[in-house]
Amino acid sequence: MYDSNYLAHRLRRASAGHEGRTFLTHGPDGPGVTYGAFFHNAERMASALRHMGVNPGDRVAVQAPKTQEMLELYVGCVLAGAVFLPLNAAYTPAEIRYFLGDATPALFVCDPAKLDALMPVAGDCGVATIRTIAADGHGSLRDARDAEAPGFDPVPRGPLDLAAILYTSGTTGRSKGAMLTHRALASNSETLRDYWRFTDQDVLIHALPIFHTHGLFVATNVTLMAGGSCIFLPGFDAGAIMASMPKATALMGVPTFYTRLLQQDGLAKAAQGMRLFVSGSAPLLSETHDRWRAVTGHAILERYGMTETNMNTSNPYDGDRRAGTVGVPLPGVELKICDPETGAELPQGEIGVLEVRGDNVFAGYWQMPEKTAEELRPDGFFITGDLGLVDKDGYVHIVGRAKDLIISGGFNIYPKEVEALIDDLPGVLESAVIGVPHPDFGEAVVAVVVPLPGDVVTEAGVMSAIAGDLAKFKQPKRVIILPELPRNTMGKVQKAALRQDYAELFQ
Ligand code: AMP
Repeated sequence: MYDSNYLAHRLRRASAGHEGRTFLTHGPDGPGVTYGAFFHNAERMASALRHMGVNPGDRVAVQAPKTQEMLELYVGCVLAGAVFLPLNAAYTPAEIRYFLGDATPALFVCDPAKLDALMPVAGDCGVATIRTIAADGHGSLRDARDAEAPGFDPVPRGPLDLAAILYTSGTTGRSKGAMLTHRALASNSETLRDYWRFTDQDVLIHALPIFHTHGLFVATNVTLMAGGSCIFLPGFDAGAIMASMPKATALMGVPTFYTRLLQQDGLAKAAQGMRLFVSGSAPLLSETHDRWRAVTGHAILERYGMTETNMNTSNPYDGDRRAGTVGVPLPGVELKICDPETGAELPQGEIGVLEVRGDNVFAGYWQMPEKTAEELRPDGFFITGDLGLVDKDGYVHIVGRAKDLIISGGFNIYPKEVEALIDDLPGVLESAVIGVPHPDFGEAVVAVVVPLPGDVVTEAGVMSAIAGDLAKFKQPKRVIILPELPRNTMGKVQKAALRQDYAELFQ
């Protein structure tokens, strides 16, 4: 019955006819929500959107806590032919102003606690309707949903119609809205479902935010497309994940999930019945991979993707899951390593910029044709901005972001090479290597090092320990010891913030 809507059809196919099957439970012991109830609500959300004046192609922006209603709104948008636009829950009203002004949504949905602050912002940006997601008695979206009669005829949508816009994390410059089509989302989630062997027997621990590709499209779409279920947690909570594991089969997380879970007692026992642990969004330290395997017997499966492309590569389900690599290109994804200057493809083994092509790739940046032309080639290859290489076995290694490349005295330094050496030193938990302005060399290599809890690491100690293994120009000119690295909500190290903090070091 959803056949005319490309993505909705694929999200519903596995569960149609299994209305009583559980789609999600609120927490490990919480109440369950069946597929029938979930889609019933999503259809009423779609009707409510229509009655609020949301037309096909209109954007629906939402900044709200992670709730079942937000998932219903996502699927409701797909059914109504609208474009779902989730925003990071941590954005301030000033940041929201930029997104609303840029995306001009027909409806903005917010956290009841932020309504007073955001109402004037939405008004200034000309947003016609603002609703809270689920406040009691305040004309919330949930109230609007509940006032609708059951049933909704999905708005016909084809593979190239837009389903969502996700803004990039924007570590440099203005955040860009990546336009994601029905086909990009559907094809990637179907590929992941099959590659990672998700079935209706799976129970996924869903602890990731749903304003980001990882939690929304990887975790949620894969569950829906497999007809499986998920234990829905409002956020990362080590205790809740530990309690969920005995009832679950799979976990998707960012690397910090795994480092924090490793500090929990009883991990080995809790993880016994699990079949799959996936990590992504930021590099997983080899050390974490090894410790996880030693404690639980499971090799974490690391994959690599981004807002613009969904997932590009994955370690194999059956074969060798190699620590420090992001695996091989997924079926349907072409990947090549190119010269950062000329764009020419480089020979196997050389470091360059990763470019990818496939149905998974986005359709361009919202209202930024010049940015789209800079990063999306006419032949369909997207210039990811990530630096990496493909080893002789075909595994992809990410060595950093092109903009993190350090050029000191005319020589190129890939931070990952220096970080790997430092991370291997006794007493070191992790490190981030950055380039900062230097009067003589242009840029100087600086290492920011985090010791393991209880260990002492010194600048002189780090310098002398790696001196024999690195060419002089790659050696840090300074080593800064910090208790932790700055990270965003997806666990990514904020190198831009570090560069800013130490910009004056040599001035
Ligand atoms: P985002 O668009 O916020 O999902 O960020 C995407 C970026 O995260 C990529 O371009 C990579 O730089 C980084 N990333 C994602 N997954 C991995 C991974 N497994 N290893 C290293 N970097 C990753």
